[in-house]
Amino acid sequence: MHLSKHDDIALRERLERLRQQLREELAGGSEAGATVELDQARVGRLSRMDALQAQAMSRETSRRTSVRLAMVDVVLARVDSGEYGYCDECGELINPKRLDVDPLVTLCIQCASLKES
Ligand SMILES: [Zn+2]
Repeated sequence: MHLSKHDDIALRERLERLRQQLREELAGGSEAGATVELDQARVGRLSRMDALQAQAMSRETSRRTSVRLAMVDVVLARVDSGEYGYCDECGELINPKRLDVDPLVTLCIQCASLKES
């Protein structure tokens, strides 16, 4: 895909913003984890299980956020090398609307749905 200079800059800015946002989410996530531990001390067994469940969920969210954070770097490198916007599997152009929804996708809709099924 040949992005115009302007699009290129806009995309980079979007990715940088996304990186910042993901970093903040990651920081916020560990705070939520700490809160759960505090709650555990003063609640009963049943709530404790809820708390542990909530903690596991927040850990899973953090893990996904970390993966996306790593993807930002991968995608930025692709913008640099002019490879941004091509599908990892088939090499076809990814629908720009799809990239607009999530600039971190690396598969076209066909390959993504094949992987999911
Ligand atoms: Zn594909």
